[in-house]
Amino acid sequence: MDNSTSSEKVRADEQRRRGCEVARALPKQLLIGGRWVDARSGKTFETIEPATEQVVAAVAEGGVEDIDEAVRAARAAFDDGPWPRMRPHQRTRYLFKLAELIEAHHEELATLITLDNGKPLAEARAEVSRTAEVFVYYAGWTTKIYGETHPSEPALFNYTLREPLGVCGQIIPWNGPLSMIGWKVGPALACGNTVVLKPAEQTPLPALRFGQFVLEAGLPEGVVNIVTGFGPTAGAALARHPDVDKVAFTGSTEVGREILRASVPDLKRVSLELGGKSPNIIFADAELGPSVAGAAFGIFRNQGQICSAGSRIFVQREIYDEFARRLTQTAEGIRLGDPFQTETTMGPLISAEQYERVLGYCEAGRRDGAKVETGGERGGQSKGYFVKPTVFVDVDNSMRIAREEIFGPVASLIPFTDERDAALQGNETIYGLAAAIWTRDVSRVHRLARALKAGTVWVNCYNIIDPVSPFGGYKQSGIGRELGKDSLDLYTQVKSVFIKL
Ligand code: NAP
Ligand code: MG
Repeated sequence: MDNSTSSEKVRADEQRRRGCEVARALPKQLLIGGRWVDARSGKTFETIEPATEQVVAAVAEGGVEDIDEAVRAARAAFDDGPWPRMRPHQRTRYLFKLAELIEAHHEELATLITLDNGKPLAEARAEVSRTAEVFVYYAGWTTKIYGETHPSEPALFNYTLREPLGVCGQIIPWNGPLSMIGWKVGPALACGNTVVLKPAEQTPLPALRFGQFVLEAGLPEGVVNIVTGFGPTAGAALARHPDVDKVAFTGSTEVGREILRASVPDLKRVSLELGGKSPNIIFADAELGPSVAGAAFGIFRNQGQICSAGSRIFVQREIYDEFARRLTQTAEGIRLGDPFQTETTMGPLISAEQYERVLGYCEAGRRDGAKVETGGERGGQSKGYFVKPTVFVDVDNSMRIAREEIFGPVASLIPFTDERDAALQGNETIYGLAAAIWTRDVSRVHRLARALKAGTVWVNCYNIIDPVSPFGGYKQSGIGRELGKDSLDLYTQVKSVFIKL
C-alpha cells in the first residue's frame, strides 16, 4: 500500500517498533498469587502482528498445573485474604487506581492492542478510554451493593445479604482484548470476588500489561491472577476446575456450550456472551445518509469482528437499490491498510484462520447465489490478513452467509416489505444479541423495540455500548447480562437471614 505520505509511514513504523519493545519487555510469565512466575512446563508461545505476520513477542504458555496454582491463589485470597472483607470504600480506591493506570498508559496500551489485534489505532485508543470508564463505573458500585429487609412475622427480622460468589474464572476473546478485561474483572472485583483470567491466545499483551497495573495498584496477592495459554488446555482446565465458583466467558457459541457442559459436575455459576447475527433494519422513511453510515459502522468497525456486528442489513424494498449503491460506495471509501497509519480506517483480520474462514464465507455466498457488489477478496498490503470490506446483495435469509456468524467485514443486504416482515425475518435466527431500527416513525420504533428478540435494540444508531446499560443475548447469544447494575447479579449471591426477636 502506498497511498500514504512517506513521513506518515516512518511515524507508523516507529510506533510499531516502540510497541514491540514494550511487548518484549513484558513478563514472559504468569501472574499468580501476586508474583510473576514461569509456566510449570517452561513453554512459551509467540504472538503475531496480524498486519505484518511478524512475531511481536513470546509469552508464557500456562497449562493445567498453572491453572490449578492460580485457582489455589485466588481461593486463598478469597477465603482468607483481605479483599472480600475490606471496607467497600477501599475497594473503590483500588478500582479507581486501576482506571488511573490505564489512563496514564493510554497510548502504550492502544499500541499493544493494535499490535496484537490489528484494529486501527483510533479504535484501539477508544477501547482504552472505554475500559478505564468501566473500571470507574464499577468503582462506584462497591459501596452500593445492597441487601433488603422484608416484612416477615412481627417476632422475626428478615434481611438479605448480597455476597460475592468466590473464585471467578474469566475466559476472554481477542476482539476487545482490553475492554473484555474491564467487563469481566471490573464487576467481579467490585463485588469482592477474586479472579483467574485467561486471555485469548492471539492477544495476551494487553492482559500482561494490565497484570503489571494490578501489582502497581497494590491489590492484595491472589485477587487477580492471569494465565496466558490456549483454550483447550488452560481454558478448559479453568472451566472445569472444582474450586472455581463461577465462569464468565465471551467467545464462540460452540465453546460456550463446552463451558456450560464443564460446569455441570459442580453446578458452577456460568455467564456466557456469545455470537450474533444481528439485524440492522432500514425503513424507507429513515434518513438515508445516517442510516448508510450507521450500517457501515455496524458491520465494518473492528473489521466486523464484533459479536454485535450488524451483519444482516434488512432494507425496505423501495430504497433497496439506492441503499446498496450508497453502502457499496461507503465500503469502497474505507482505507484498508497499516493500522498504525493515521488515514487507515480498517485493519487486518486477527489471524490466518479467521482470514480463511471469512473468505470461505464469501465463496459460500457466491455459491448460494448472492452477488458481491464490492470486496469478497483479499486486500491491503502484501503481508497481513486483509480482507476488503464486502457488500453482498440479493441475499436471502436462508443462505449460510445470513445464518452463520462470519465475524468479518461482510454485509448481507436483504430486502423486506413491511414492519411485520422486518420483525419476522429479523427474528429468524438462532441468535439474539442485538438489533437496530432506522426510521422516523416513533410508534413503529416502540412496536419493533418490543417485537425484536435481542438483548439490545438501537434506534437510529448502532453499536452504542455504555457501562451504565446491560449487554447480553437472547436465545443462543448467551446467558446473563454484563455491564450496568445487572452485572452485579452475575458476581453476587443472595443470603436470607431470619432473626427471632
Ligand atoms: P473461541 O474459541 O470461542 O475463543 C474464546 C476464548 O475461549 C479464548 O480465550 C479461547 O482460547 C478460549 N477457549 C477456546 N476453546 C476453549 C475450551 N475448550 N475451553 C475453554 N476455553 C476455550 O473463539 P475463536 O476460536 O477465537 O473464534 C472463533 C469464532 O468465535 C469467531 O469466528 C466468532 O464467530 C466467534 N467469536 C465471538 C466473540 C464474541 O465476542 N462473542 C469473540 C471471539 C470469537 P484460545 O484463544 O487459546 O483459543
Ligand atoms: Mg477457538
